[in-house]
Amino acid sequence: MEPAGAPPQGCAPAREAEEPPGSPALPAEEPPGEGALPAATGRERGRGCRGAGPQGPPERAARGRGRWAPGRRGGEEGARDGRRPRVTVDSSKAKTSLEALKISLRQLRWREFPFGRRLPCDIYWHGVSFHDNDIFSGQVNKFPGMTEMVRKITLSRAVRTMQDLFPLEYNFYPRSWILPEEFPLFVAEVRMMKDSDPSWKPTFIVKPDGGCQGDGIYLIKDPSDIRLAGSIQSRPAVVQEYICKPLLVDKLKFDIRLYVLLKSLEPLEIYIAKDGLSRFCTEPYQEPTLKNLHQVFMHLTNYSLNIHSGNFIHSDNANTGSKRTFSSILCKLSSRGADVKKLWSDIISLVIKTIIALTPELKVYYQSDIPAGKPGPTCFQILGFDILLLKNLKPMLLEVNANPSMRIEHEQELSPGVFENVPSPVDEEVKVAVIRDTLRLVDPQKKKRKDTQCQTLEHVPEAKEELLEAGPAGRAECDTPQSPEAELPSLCLKQVFPKYAKQFNYLRLVDRVAALFIRFLGVKGTTKLGPTGFRTFIRNCKLSNSNFSMASVDILYIDITRRWNSMGIDHKESGMCLQAFVEAFFCLAQKKYKSLPLHEQVASLIDFCEDHLAALDERRLVCGRGLVERRNAVVPCQSDGLPLTPAAHAPLLHRTATSSKFTDYRSHRC
Ligand code: ADP
Repeated sequence: MEPAGAPPQGCAPAREAEEPPGSPALPAEEPPGEGALPAATGRERGRGCRGAGPQGPPERAARGRGRWAPGRRGGEEGARDGRRPRVTVDSSKAKTSLEALKISLRQLRWREFPFGRRLPCDIYWHGVSFHDNDIFSGQVNKFPGMTEMVRKITLSRAVRTMQDLFPLEYNFYPRSWILPEEFPLFVAEVRMMKDSDPSWKPTFIVKPDGGCQGDGIYLIKDPSDIRLAGSIQSRPAVVQEYICKPLLVDKLKFDIRLYVLLKSLEPLEIYIAKDGLSRFCTEPYQEPTLKNLHQVFMHLTNYSLNIHSGNFIHSDNANTGSKRTFSSILCKLSSRGADVKKLWSDIISLVIKTIIALTPELKVYYQSDIPAGKPGPTCFQILGFDILLLKNLKPMLLEVNANPSMRIEHEQELSPGVFENVPSPVDEEVKVAVIRDTLRLVDPQKKKRKDTQCQTLEHVPEAKEELLEAGPAGRAECDTPQSPEAELPSLCLKQVFPKYAKQFNYLRLVDRVAALFIRFLGVKGTTKLGPTGFRTFIRNCKLSNSNFSMASVDILYIDITRRWNSMGIDHKESGMCLQAFVEAFFCLAQKKYKSLPLHEQVASLIDFCEDHLAALDERRLVCGRGLVERRNAVVPCQSDGLPLTPAAHAPLLHRTATSSKFTDYRSHRC
């Protein structure tokens, strides 16, 4: 392990924030799409590229010398002697992230409750999911539904919906098919592409849904090689075009693990860590051939697989070995003349667009677990983005992890069969900074202080402006001298949304469709729309007319809902899931605005619906006022969400659609 404050080796790229302006690892301030990187404050630049970094040495110092050891000052004693009270964190469910969390809490001088607490804590740190514990207040580091949303099939579906709307914007995700239901489509499309380009010799990668760490993954050259016998039915999977020409470093394939903080869903707030990890294969890469298809150490970058290769190199140096910092790669690329600013900018776009694809369904889960008006915690979450670079440096998304490993140790085989957990400085450097800075960003005390400051500053307008312009890192500098913030490095997490919202907001169409869906869900806690809710949506938005009768509406509902439910995604509830509603919505949009491209059709229909609902709300407001005036009025205004019960959905769902009804719907079908 490096001593605290030791200069990084080689070209010293390991800590992006410390690099001077324009250096490969230092994110700049311009927005993505304009060859830019995430922001770096003047304070970061001023530090230069040597010496104590924002991510590495301080935590080592904290560990080694107890610089931020709990109990030295502050805490409850602090609260008693007039200092601010310490933030309380329940770490009883932290699992494998516990070690990194403990170091972060020591640095922040926050109070850890490793066995939980009878009184509520400010923050609950869960190792697996939102549901690890029943929480009714404070903040939890997981969103409900995130684990489900980033499963291979769900992520592929969500990205595909966006690809249907914005094919060019979402070309960072390899072409994918969902098995078993799209197997015939996969076969047909591959045949068609091969027919149109006989020189195309593709390879595909089959990944079981819900798998991780390379589990069950294999490569094939032809759709007929899919292991059909039984397994296709028993284990749903995604089959994806294999990226045959990845960028290589030292002749090895590698991928990038980037840490992204989803700080809030509404309003959307996204931060990206300025450094990540690069995980290397352990056999020199060759393009896939029938001979080498099975060589996992050549084709799969998973740490969990490659650690078992005799070629795996453990290194304490961020620039060498089988696991390195991403900034060390950027430095290498920069020295080869690569445009790493553009690369950062493309990565930021990829991250924002992927999260935009995930948010609509996440909002459905959120309102189901934490219904508006009920006591509940707020959520934030660290996500792991796995990215592969093409030879031309284009980043491609491989997958998103809801629970990226936060382990800061690795297993080492000391002698044959004897393993020991040893600290991994590269992991510690990156991961402790991500956890600590996530906590700094969600710090509930800071929010209280900010509110107080804002109240004070309301009387001093210039000072307020300065504070707001300074951003989160700048605000850290405003902390009181006894605050640990003052001693901490500047944040390793940089805001990218809403910072770049203007460039990406036009993509958030499905979010608006989800808002309509949620409005008509009716019953609190549900994630599926019943037939009555769907009819009410059609009626309130005035979408039915002589060409599209309510009978056709029912058939549209039954047809699409049945198909989605038969895909076996979620049998817990009956009714129409969001993705099915989105399909129905696209269908209605195509019917109504025939000649436009799909995204314009959808945008026009959203505007149309939102206008009608706004007018309806207005009328209800007036009606409500009238009701108050006529206290004893008998007929109240009707609500959107008619009192729906699962029983109310059932009859229509179970009703067999008559062939005449199908004819009716299909004659109007888009
Ligand atoms: P898991 O969750 O099991 O790790 P991934 O989707 O991350 O599954 O895939 C495992 C590894 O396979 C990746 O780290 C990467 O090295 C390789 N891989 C995955 N998808 C592709 C692809 N489309 N093209 C090339 N390599 C891929």
